[in-house]
Amino acid sequence: MPQDNASYDDAETGDAAGWHATVLTLYPDMFPGPLGTSLAGRAMVKGLWSLDAVQIRDFAEGKHRNVDDTPAGGGAGMVLRPDVLARAIDHTTLEGDTRPRILLSPRGKPLTQKKVRQLKDAGGAVLLCGRFEGVDQRVIDGRDLEEISIGDYILSGGELGAMVLLDAVVRLLPGVMGKEASGEDESFESGLLEYPHYTRPSVWEDRPIPDILSSGHHGNIAKWRHQQAVALTGERRPDLYEAWAKTRKKP
Ligand code: SAH
Repeated sequence: MPQDNASYDDAETGDAAGWHATVLTLYPDMFPGPLGTSLAGRAMVKGLWSLDAVQIRDFAEGKHRNVDDTPAGGGAGMVLRPDVLARAIDHTTLEGDTRPRILLSPRGKPLTQKKVRQLKDAGGAVLLCGRFEGVDQRVIDGRDLEEISIGDYILSGGELGAMVLLDAVVRLLPGVMGKEASGEDESFESGLLEYPHYTRPSVWEDRPIPDILSSGHHGNIAKWRHQQAVALTGERRPDLYEAWAKTRKKP
């Protein structure tokens, strides 16, 4: 196994005080997947966060252990059953578990950096991954699931959405990123997209690094970066720019 790869077993014996994710899925083998590598994987080994991937099918009953059935009212595809999902949720969230219960869903509120920060502060999350046509509405209502979308496109299942959400949260946990990379400067944190980056060589394919960055004048560099961030956001994301400009107008 590559050294960089965190083992899932290590995570389960990790520090219980860390941020804890429970993922309910029909494909637990997908986890931790990419989250077992690099920054998130090292943080898992350190016990800064942990992950249980729970097989939804274990909560199905009957000879065939069906987790899904045909849609009421007709139509294509299959729908995940509310009773099976509720048993899985109830079994994994014991009394006093205040972690937010989230359903990954294209109908949900779009995931934002602000939401990621809130989830980081919540101590963990229970993430339900849909499949097929989705899940029966009654379990969303009956278990108070918060629907979150990772973007305006349709995935084949919630698992990759859960990984996206977890990756975004885990990198913000204390001790995961170095001090120097607190993340505060990054895109969305200030309401703006980030300024462009440069590194060595100082000239590459006839393209020099902007002079200002070699000036050593920190004040001017900060000003330049801010101007770049504002211009870039205006060009690429008028929606973010408008929102940012509005907050600046307030006295
Ligand atoms: N019929 C549904 C799509 C089902 S896709 C609809 O039209 O809204 C199957 C599952 O993949 C969903 O239940 C959800 O858990 C997951 N999924 C798909 N797209 C997603 C997205 N953009 N964000 C988060 N989860 C998504």
